[in-house]
Amino acid sequence: MAKKKSLESALHEVEGIKQPTTTNDSSIKKIILQRSKQSSEKEFVEKILEGDISYLSRAITLVESNNPTHQKKATTIIEQCLPYANNSIRIGITGVPGVGKSTFIEVFGKHFTSKGKKVAVLAIDPSSSINKGSILGDKTRMEELVKDQNAYIRPSPSGESLGGVAQKTRETIILCEAAGFNTIFIETVGVGQSETAVHSMVDFFLLLKLAGAGDELQGIKRGIIEMADAIVINKADKENIKNAKLAKLEFSKALHLYPLKESGWQPKVTTCSAFYNEGIENIYTIINDYFNLTKTNGYFEQKRNEQNKYWLLETINQQLTANFYNKKEVKDSLKKYFEDIKNLKTTPFKAAKEILKLSKK
Ligand code: GDP
Repeated sequence: MAKKKSLESALHEVEGIKQPTTTNDSSIKKIILQRSKQSSEKEFVEKILEGDISYLSRAITLVESNNPTHQKKATTIIEQCLPYANNSIRIGITGVPGVGKSTFIEVFGKHFTSKGKKVAVLAIDPSSSINKGSILGDKTRMEELVKDQNAYIRPSPSGESLGGVAQKTRETIILCEAAGFNTIFIETVGVGQSETAVHSMVDFFLLLKLAGAGDELQGIKRGIIEMADAIVINKADKENIKNAKLAKLEFSKALHLYPLKESGWQPKVTTCSAFYNEGIENIYTIINDYFNLTKTNGYFEQKRNEQNKYWLLETINQQLTANFYNKKEVKDSLKKYFEDIKNLKTTPFKAAKEILKLSKK
């Protein structure tokens, strides 16, 4: 019955399941954090390197905590794990709610584990922090993968901003890699700025799409197409196959209009049916080809280096901004200048200049 229902909706990007994330539940978190107090950083690192999932999860909970003591502990653990990280491929997967992300990740993840890989699935979902229910839902959606010994699924951290959520996910990648996960999937919703955040931490960016009625290129942000290393048209099954093939053609034509990527990679367009497990091996081959190319021509390493630089600067920016806005004088001054601007006593630019002087204090 469930199958039938979803088939009827093949052409629609129906809303994904909205549900509260269970592992982010505050009482469970409290217990985890209390237990974590008793383990030393050294113990954490040793256990993570052994691939101990329980320690890995507890370390991630420390990363996600905003308590300064937890953060300090997390930083030490991450630093010590760093030499053992980096040995992975990182794949970003995006698409609007209902496109079939979790169905796809489930079969794609199983495909990787069947080839002896260890897969960690992380998510960036800023919505979960705002309304407590996330657009991406949680691990209950990937019932098969969650049972797989070689897979680890972690829902999106519920931080207060996209920047915060993204940084935490990036640190979580390091921990997962140190624990032996050599394939990292990062899922995000195709809304807002989250794709850019994901793009800044993955090697390969996969955009999931649905075939429509000849208007494929409408309504897609140009930026996302530019980021994509592969566009996969999902739900290419039954009566939808023809439309999917047409969409593939249209996307291929459109992609050829873009200049060749710095990676030397020509983005690929293909179709699949996550539901019927069709076309998955082909996507696996595309990804392998990409990594063979970029590891040979040096782009893989170059991109990771650039991402590290980006994160260094991003972290400094975030810290400086937070420090600045937390100053009492800045808070008071902002209040005053908001009033002045409203009463046309000054301009926003002049006010900004004045307020910025407080950064030197
Ligand atoms: P998400 O919100 O992007 O994670 O999407 P889901 O994976 O939850 O899928 C949304 C709906 O589309 C569900 O009812 C799935 O069963 C259905 N679906 C996913 N992949 C396919 C597919 O390849 N073919 C068909 N016909 N339905 C699919």
